[in-house]
Parts: sequence; structure tokens; C-alpha cells
Amino acid sequence: MWLYLRMVLKVTKILAFQSLSGIYSAREFVWWYNGHPDYSSLKPDLKSSDTAVILGQGNVALDVARILLRPTTELASTDIARHALSVLEESSIRKVYLIGRRGPVQAALTAKELREVLGIKNLRIRIKETDLSLTPADEEEMKNSRARKRIYELLSKAAAAAAGTSEADPDQRELHFVFFRQPDRFLESDERKGHVSGVNLEKTILESVGSGKQIAVGTGEFEDLNCSMVLKAIGYKSVPINGLPFDHKKGVVPNVRGRVVSQTSGDISQTEPGLYVCGWLKRGPVGIIATNLYCAEETVGSISEDIEEGVCKSSKAGSKGLMELLEKRKVKKVEFSGWEKIDAKEKQMGIEKNKPREKLVTWEDLLAAAAN
Ligand code: NAP
Repeated sequence: MWLYLRMVLKVTKILAFQSLSGIYSAREFVWWYNGHPDYSSLKPDLKSSDTAVILGQGNVALDVARILLRPTTELASTDIARHALSVLEESSIRKVYLIGRRGPVQAALTAKELREVLGIKNLRIRIKETDLSLTPADEEEMKNSRARKRIYELLSKAAAAAAGTSEADPDQRELHFVFFRQPDRFLESDERKGHVSGVNLEKTILESVGSGKQIAVGTGEFEDLNCSMVLKAIGYKSVPINGLPFDHKKGVVPNVRGRVVSQTSGDISQTEPGLYVCGWLKRGPVGIIATNLYCAEETVGSISEDIEEGVCKSSKAGSKGLMELLEKRKVKKVEFSGWEKIDAKEKQMGIEKNKPREKLVTWEDLLAAAAN
């Protein structure tokens, strides 16, 4: 009962402060710097202090940290959206804190992405020495996963290298990996009403829950971390689609090798003919780009097999039916040839600026380029 009450109180507290300015989801921030038309006018405040906090220690958190910390002279030759580059050029953020509720062995990072961040010019990595000490359960996790071990080694090495460097120069930036802390609530600034001024964090410890997994448990000890910007990067969850079976616990459409099944049992005899799924809706919000390629290949394999074996006796109308439905609903659509024109235009604009592409960032410009 007490645990339930605490959870309710916590959710209420977090929701109450959700509307403070300066708090963004990593998704909106990523869409902003990538030039998504719905977020190109986001205007994140990067000038109120030198500190940003990112909640979560996955690859999205790393991506966002990289954008905040990489020299803008380097970002200028990437395909980052122009509006984002100008805001970042004015940014006063010099310290970024990545907050993880578990330890360095459990950080949800992959080695390639971590190396890219560790390689940022003039960046000092900060990790508390005590956070790097290992328990027998951590040793066991690393024994069972080379990837976990690699991440731990990279973090330890980066922390040791930073400890040996001399006093920071004014241009130096800092990336703090903060482990064993979970967010409790956002703090409101006294001077700037309605703006975030920090995050209240609860210290955690790890508890083994069997099969080598350790979860974070709050200790009831709290501390504040001041900042002027918070980015939430704690993962994603798919939402159900009307009329499709959905496993609410896992947040996926139940399937066997991409064939949608009508029950969550995974029983192949229950598959819905002609209905397939791939990507995060199939396997949950995990995996790098290559994982999506294998995932799509598997689903396409299932479709091919079903066509060959005559199992795919669907009465569904396929792409022709989709086009007719879009026409009927008066949905504006851009076909592949239109996408190619957008691609060519962005690349052409990029050549003029020595970038791989200059993104078009409004629906009007995108539709005009597609129609040309
Ligand atoms: P993620 O990998 O699931 O990481 C989520 C992070 O948030 C974890 O550190 C997790 O901690 C923490 N978290 C979750 N719920 C929390 C809570 N209630 N309180 C505090 N912390 C919480 O999610 P993601 O970073 O959004 O990435 C999604 C997927 O996209 C991942 O598979 C990622 O590898 C992939 N991705 C790949 C690339 C790339 O290929 N370059 C780039 C970006 C993303 P726990 O571990 O304790 O749950």
C-alpha cells in the first residue's frame, strides 16, 4: 500500500512540474536539430546557464549530449538543421550531466556511440570513482555480456584519463556520468517563475531480481542538481493501433517472425492472414539501425514464404488499396519520386555550404520541392 501511495505521489509531483519551461523530451530536441518541420520552431533555451541535465543513459541521451558538447565548427559540416546550428553557436552550456538510475555496467549504451562521444575534442569526462566499483553481481553481468564489459572498460578508461589532465581551459566542456540516481521531481526557479532550475534526485542501490538482472531501488536519500535545461531520454513505448492486437505489457504487436498473431501466446496457428509487423512495434523500442535491417529482413522473409506457400490468402487490397483509401480520405501524399526531388534539392543546397545536405524545415518548402 505504502509503495503504491509513494508511486502515485511521485507521478503527481512529476506531472505538476512537467509544464515548467526548459524541460524537453529528447524526441522533440532531436527532431528540432534534425529539422523536423513540426519542431523547427522549438527554440530551446541554451543561454540561461552553463548546465544541462539529461535523464537516462541510453544512446538517445548520448546523441543529445553529443550535440550539446561538440564544437559548432565541427557541427557546421554535418547535416544539422541551420536553425539549430545558430542556437548552438550561441549556447552557454558547458557541462552536461547524464543521469542513470543504475551503474556503469548497466548503462544502456553501445560502444561505437560511446566512443564517438568520448572522442569529442576538448571534452573532460567526469565519473565518481566510487561509482566505478564493482559488486559480484556486476562481475557476473559482465561475464555474461562482452558488450557490458566493453562499456564499463571504456567509461573507466575515460574517467582515468580525465583525472590525469591538468586544469581546464575556458573552452573545455564536461560530460558527467552520474550513476545510481533517479529523478524525483523538477525544481522551479525562484528568479524565473515557471522555469526549471534543477532536478531533485534520489540515490539508488541495485537489487538482484534473478536471472542476472539488477534493478534500481530508491534509498530515500535525496539531492538537488541545478541546471537550466532538462532533457528526458528514458526510452519509448509504442501505442496500440485501433483494430490490431496489442501486448500492453511489452508494448508490441504480438507476432511470430513478423506474422501478427491474434493472441499474446505467440501460437503460430493464431496468425492473422496477410498481416505483418516490423520495427519497434514488432520487438520493442530497442536496437541500432542494423537491428532494424535484420528485423525487416525477417518480416519480408515471412511474407515471401507465405506467398510461396499460398498461406497469404488475404483479401486486403495492398498498395493500390492504400492509395485509393488516401485519395478517398483526401490525405495529401508524397510519392517516392517526390521524396527523390526533396533529397536532390537538399543535397544541392548542401554543396553550396560544404555540407552533406541543407535540410528543408517547413512543410511548405518540402511540398514545393516534391512538386517541382
Ligand atoms: P534506452 O536504450 O531504452 O535507454 C533508456 C534509459 O533511460 C536507460 O538508461 C534507462 O535505465 C533509463 N530509464 C528508463 N526509465 C526510467 C525511469 N523511469 N527513471 C529513470 N531512468 C529511466 O532508450 P533510448 O536511449 O531512447 O534508445 C532507444 C533505442 O534506440 C535503443 O535501443 C538505442 O540503442 C537505440 N538508438 C540507437 C542509436 C544508434 O544506433 N546510434 C541512436 C539512438 C538510439 P534502465 O536501464 O535502468 O531502465
